Formats: sequence, C-alpha cells, structure tokens
Amino acid sequence: MVERNREQLINTIRERSEITQVVSEYVTLKKAGKTLNGLCPFHGEKTPSFTVSREKQLFYCFGCGAGGDVFNFVMRIENLTFPQAARWLAERAHIPWEDEESPDAERRRKEREAIFRLNKLAADYYHQVLLNSQQARGAQEYLKGRALDGEATTRFQLGYALPSWDGLTGLIQKKGIPLSLAEKAGLVLAGQNGFYDRFRDRVIFPIIDPQGRVVGFGGRMMGEGHPKYLNSPDTPVFSKGRYLYGLYHAKDAIRHRGQAVIVEGYTDVIQAHLHGHQEVVASLGTALTLEQVKTLRRYTDHVVIAYDADTAGQSATVRGLELVRGSGIVVKVAVLPEGDDPDSLLRRGELQRFQDALAKGDDLFQFKLNHLLKKQDITSPEEKSKAVAAILPLLAEVADQVARDEYIRMLARRLQVNEETLYYEWRSYQAALRKKSQALDNVNQNRNTITDSPAPSASSPQVPDPNDAPMERELLRGALQEIKKLKRIKEALSQQDLENSVYRSILGCLFEAHPSVTDWPPKLDELPMELRPIYAALIAENEAKNYPVDVDGCCSRIRQARIIQEIRRVQAELAAGSEIAGADLNDRLNRLNELNKILRKDFPTFSGTI
Ligand SMILES: [Zn+2]
Repeated sequence: MVERNREQLINTIRERSEITQVVSEYVTLKKAGKTLNGLCPFHGEKTPSFTVSREKQLFYCFGCGAGGDVFNFVMRIENLTFPQAARWLAERAHIPWEDEESPDAERRRKEREAIFRLNKLAADYYHQVLLNSQQARGAQEYLKGRALDGEATTRFQLGYALPSWDGLTGLIQKKGIPLSLAEKAGLVLAGQNGFYDRFRDRVIFPIIDPQGRVVGFGGRMMGEGHPKYLNSPDTPVFSKGRYLYGLYHAKDAIRHRGQAVIVEGYTDVIQAHLHGHQEVVASLGTALTLEQVKTLRRYTDHVVIAYDADTAGQSATVRGLELVRGSGIVVKVAVLPEGDDPDSLLRRGELQRFQDALAKGDDLFQFKLNHLLKKQDITSPEEKSKAVAAILPLLAEVADQVARDEYIRMLARRLQVNEETLYYEWRSYQAALRKKSQALDNVNQNRNTITDSPAPSASSPQVPDPNDAPMERELLRGALQEIKKLKRIKEALSQQDLENSVYRSILGCLFEAHPSVTDWPPKLDELPMELRPIYAALIAENEAKNYPVDVDGCCSRIRQARIIQEIRRVQAELAAGSEIAGADLNDRLNRLNELNKILRKDFPTFSGTI
C-alpha cells in the first residue's frame, strides 16, 4: 500500500513537473525543430548542445553526455539524491510530500505557504514604496549615493519601509490577512496597542531562497542609530544561519565558474553582481554556519572568502573556515586592502584590485599562519618556539607532502629559524601524533562509528563513453527505432552477448518491456533511475540523426566479436595451462574446434587473424 502510494506520488510529481519548465528555470531555451536547445548548465560551452524534448520529457547534452528525465536533471543540477530531488519537485509543484499527511504536517505546510505569500506581498510593497512614495526620497538619495539605484534596485528588489508604525500593518489588515500570521512571519510585532511594523525607516533587502521564494528581510538604517542592520527573526521559513544572501541570483554563475565567493554584507553582494561577479553571496553574519556550507556544496566545491582585513583577522572567521574545510570544500581566503570591503573597493572603480585579491587568495594554511604570526610579536627564542608549537597542528592537516615541505621552508624564513630544526620538530610531532592515533584506533575498534558519508554524487553518473562499444550503442539505437528491430535482435542475440554492462542492462529492460509495451520506445520512467541518463542519450541521438540502423549487421558483428573473444580466451587458457590435463584438455580443444567451425560457417568472409 505504502509502495503504491509512493509510486502514485512520484507519478503525480512527474506529471506536474513539466521538464522544459523546470529546465527553463536554469537554462535559457530556444525552440529548434522538435526540441528546445540551450547552453548546457553542466559544462562550459559557447554553442548550445543541450537539448530538451517536451514530447519525450527528457534532456540530453551532446557535449558532455548529461541526460535523463526531470528527476535526473534536478538531482544533477541541485546535487541531490533521488528522494531529495523528488521532494524538491514536490515542493515546487505544491504537492504534499508525506504519503498521508498528518493534520499537523498539513497545517505546518499551509502555514509555510501562507508565509511565503505574505513575504512576497511585503517585498512588493516595500519595493513600490521605494519607487513611488514621496517619503522615500531620503532612501532613494541614500541608495543613489551608494550606486545602488536603478538596476540594483530592480534586480535585487530593494525596498523601503516607511517611518510609520502601520505602513505594512495597514496593508495586511486591508487584505484581510490575520496579523497573527504576519507576526509569525516576523513582519509585525505585538505591542500593548495592537500590532505594529517591525521594519521602520529602513532600506529593505529581501532574502530569497534558491527556489526564488522570499524567506526573510534585512533592513538597513540610513543614518546613525542602532542596530545598523535588522534582520527577520527566526520564522517557520527563515533562520539566519541557513541562507546566503544573493544565492538565488548567484547559483548559475557559481556553477558555471566552478567557484563561489563569500562576502560579508548585502551591499558587497550587489556591487559585485553589478560589476560582473555574479558568483558572490553573503553569509548573513560573519561566521559561516555548517548549513550554509552544505547549501553551497550543492553548487560548487571551491569557495573564496573575501572579507575585509578586520573581519578576516577575527577568530570567528577562522572558526568559520575550519567548518568549510571540514566539509571537503577547497577554501581560499582573499584578504582585501586594509580598510576596504568589496563594496567600497568596487564603488571606487577598483575592479582589478578586487579580482587580484580573489585570484591571489591564500590557502587555509597560509592564512592561518599569517593570522598566528601577526598575533604575536615573534623575536625571542621562547616566542619562536611557541609559534612553532602552534603551527605544527596546522602542518599536520596538509596532506600533500610537497606542499608541506614548501610550508616548512616558508615558516623557517618567516621565523628566521633553521630549516633542519623545523623538520626535526615536525617529525617528533608526527611520531607523537601517530602514537596517539593508534591508541584511538584501539578504542574505536570496539565501537560502531557512524560517519556522515556524503550523498552519492548525482553529478557524476556512470555514463559510458560513447566511443566505448560503439556497435552495441548503435544496436540499442536501432532497437529503440522500431519494435520489430528489437524482435530481430532478440532472435539473433542474448543479453549476455553485449559486453558493456550499462548497454547490457538496457537491452535486458527492452527485452522485458517488449511484449507489454504498445507505445515504442518505452518511456524513460520505465527504466531504473541509473539507466535513464544513457537511455535519454540514445533517444536524443535518434532524434538528431534519424537514419535507420542496420540491426542485422550490428547483431552479426557483435556475435562475431563474441566468438572471436571466446576463441582467444580458450587459446589463452591452453597456452597458460601446463596443468590442464586429460579430459579438460580435450574439452578445450573440442570447444576451440567447434568455435572455429561456427566462425567459418557463419562468417565466411571473416579473414582476420585470431
Ligand atoms: Zn553538457
């Protein structure tokens, strides 16, 4: 029963997730004959080789071989597992996820949806106020002074909250939306005389999640006062540690450039985007959280942190970096010129310096080394020895020996100590470390350790190289063209005759589907998930070059190849096996004879050497 519900759920999700619409959220598609084309989001390219078929509900890239149905697409582009992708699509299509949603879960879902709608209403309201209200003059001037007017305002839907207590509150009331919901959304506060606006006389930065929904707001004060920044509180749809500002606008660029840049503030993000660096996002606060890092990992495993010199020097930053490193992401730290942040640098027109800083970023070891050495005044032998002791644990984290040697030499120069002495210290530290880890191993052996293994990567499915077993690929293309061709294949070959395991599995599925399927070829979802990318590739190839495949020729050449392979195998056994004796030897010789006979009879034109 549960299984059937699940199947129904997956079908509903598929029906309500039209592939060209889902893909369009990531790729600009243009009509080209029966399909839609665009630039592949999975590999860098300048001419479109990425196709999406509305009719067949599949995508395929002729450049990199990525392909599959709507689930494959979401798995790959958002780096999700199948259940995660299904859930993601369900949410997108407003389909309740739980098999049988409990009344409580239903209430929570509806509340979340209502808050998203309310947030959208508020974002539109603040935006309109900024654009049209007389009272927004000051805010307009303020934004203009920071080069955040015009395009920035539109692209990031900046807004302004009036200085009054009931601007948004009044609107919500007029719309008949309960103010208690607005309170839950963090938009209004309850006072002694009723509800009033949380954000007053502030420039508003809507915070948008990767799916394009407004989850919360940041409000910046324009003059002096406290707090300078006011964020939405934690609500059913928002928590500060979970989101990165600008990610919705940045995710495509992050994927394309293979790198994300993390800055501190809203205005840093916007300036960077306006200056062509759309891969920039902001942590809402100085310390990165594990959730933010996990979110970023869906898009890239290379991160550059570009904080101003002050922040970069803080211990909170260093701790945040530890977090990133532990997640398997490669981190670099770009330290900006003293007294500058990306916003000020870019507004002064120093794009080149910003880019240089990004390109020159220190790796984590260099950064921490600088941090450590800056903190203490290292001149006395005692100070030097303390510094070395603090740095050895950092060295132990450097896995690459060449890099480590380089660091040791660098350290020797910086501390003005003998290189040999440092090596000696390093080796003693290592020996002590090894002893400790052996002791730990002994403890761990008696314990079941649960490790947080990463989800299987959806971005590297096992797609056979099109040049691998080309005849078998051709055969499958033929099988998909007409059902009667599949019947001829079934007569001539067995599934085992195919050498490539993926092709073999697909042929197996086709053999199985054949008697029951009326509409040929079978739809993508009739195949197991892992076979869909390559299956989509075959169908897309047929669409692109629809000449009929000579399946009889393919069958014959595949059979011939198998016989020759078998002959070689038996020959090799005979050659290697002085221990093969008596009956076994006879068996093999007979088999060899038989194979040679078949080869000559079935393939009289064969003239190759074996
Ligand atoms: Zn591609």
